[in-house]
Amino acid sequence: MSSTASAFEEVPHFIAGRFETSASDRVGDVFNPSTGRVQARVPFATAEDINRAVSAAADALPSWSETPAVDRARVMFRFRELMQARFEELAALVTREHGKTIAEARAEMQRGIEMVEFACGIPSLLMGQSLENIAASVDCETMRHPVGVCAGITPFNFPSMVPLWMFPVAIACGNTFVLKPSEKVPLSAVKLAALLSEAGLPEGVFNIVHGDKTAVDALLTHPLVKAVSFVGSTSVARHVYETGTKHGKRVQAAGGAKNHLIIMPDADLDQAVKALQASAFGCAGERCMAGSVAVPVGRVANEVVEGLCRVACQMKVGPTDGATGVDMGPLVSRAHRDRVASYLDVAKSEGAEVALDGRTFELPGDGFLLGPSVVDRVQPNMRLAREEVFGPVLSVVRADDLDEALAIGRQCEYGNGASIFTRSGWAAREFKRHFNAGMIGINVGVPAPMAWFPFTGWNQSFFGDLHIQGVEGVQFYTKQKMTMTRWFRSASESHADPIWKAQSGGA
Ligand code: NAD
Repeated sequence: MSSTASAFEEVPHFIAGRFETSASDRVGDVFNPSTGRVQARVPFATAEDINRAVSAAADALPSWSETPAVDRARVMFRFRELMQARFEELAALVTREHGKTIAEARAEMQRGIEMVEFACGIPSLLMGQSLENIAASVDCETMRHPVGVCAGITPFNFPSMVPLWMFPVAIACGNTFVLKPSEKVPLSAVKLAALLSEAGLPEGVFNIVHGDKTAVDALLTHPLVKAVSFVGSTSVARHVYETGTKHGKRVQAAGGAKNHLIIMPDADLDQAVKALQASAFGCAGERCMAGSVAVPVGRVANEVVEGLCRVACQMKVGPTDGATGVDMGPLVSRAHRDRVASYLDVAKSEGAEVALDGRTFELPGDGFLLGPSVVDRVQPNMRLAREEVFGPVLSVVRADDLDEALAIGRQCEYGNGASIFTRSGWAAREFKRHFNAGMIGINVGVPAPMAWFPFTGWNQSFFGDLHIQGVEGVQFYTKQKMTMTRWFRSASESHADPIWKAQSGGA
């Protein structure tokens, strides 16, 4: 954080349909992780900035919530077309501010567009239930109403996709929205706001304020905010859940992760090693669904470790901005790269074996690069097995059998994803039923669900009741109203009654 004025482009807030500079004297640097250089400055919103954004969203709410669902969906259709038309530009921006490869940025944009496509179906998704004659002449129905002003607080690792997990569905449901993107990667969200305006979204329906804890806490305590969606680390997710619910809001807060990849002795090892490589080192390990603990079962352990080191040491690590042919890009910041690298010393001091050290790779330029690492003979009680590293470091915890692998999962405080590699239907079924995590892969390295399914983290990976994505997302952004109706038949209301005919114009 820096408070000095500078020549760098200032990232604007987006409030009431206008991009505006901030009066805040607190600003942060936005880096290009490929070069290690500052590319923009982001303002840290004051509580007053937050109040203006929430007020703009509250002002826009009555008209937007009354807009027919089909018309709200049409805005989403146009937004989807604009995103598709600017696909390469949006992907390049993700690469420039986050550092992931352009192929990974395209995959992120594709997943984000799918969330908009899901939101385009909102008229069907909002339909309620009805049952006639629940008692004599009594009919019953439910309808879904928007909850009001919603807030979204997002992490650095998916600058476009995670915001898109939230606001398209929230807005399509008839809510208005204030987004607080990660201060490390604020540029993609601003671009999406411009496209939403171009798609015809009325002013104030979607707003962006940048910032840090001050901005987040102002959202969590603002009386006009009715629902908060959060994605980020577990400690902040817990804070957001506790503070938001204490202030009467509904909250869904997705946290950190430690995802296990079990390799059974009967697995197709070539396929499994490739899947592990992609899971652990894709997006430089900065994914909440990244496999971070490999658990080879029985006799395959040496072969798995050797295979992982062999494929990982061939990866081309380098700057990604404007580049192709790179397998793994930089981490998001220098501090994060150094923190991830420090885990290799922690591993050694705790008695694990660093089989491949990412610091020994040829790392060109001044970007925040670190090669992939494999750490063998990690024990479940070591920090590497317990803590989220969030970088390209794959720990290997060896197990004797499936029961021991399941026990390793039970010791972990997180519970996002876990995968098994096997040819045995029995082992796969045992794993699916009993592994202590909410998203399961069977011969799939990254079991991250598509837009139509909920993102079902468990344990310390999720705080709340209704998850992000899928129908649970629609339920989160709406409140139900039940109506019970009885009409009495009376002579004065009979269609055959001449008096009724006179009152209704004789129809
Ligand atoms: P983070 O928790 O540091 O930040 C997330 C958001 O919270 C940011 O907008 C940030 O400004 C804000 N924030 C940070 N500290 C805060 C504080 N003390 N009080 C209030 N707000 C605060 O997370 P990150 O480093 O940006 O992202 C990485 C984390 O996100 C990892 O733990 C990863 O597992 C997690 N993640 C989880 C999922 C999931 O679906 N479970 C998805 C993506 C990322």
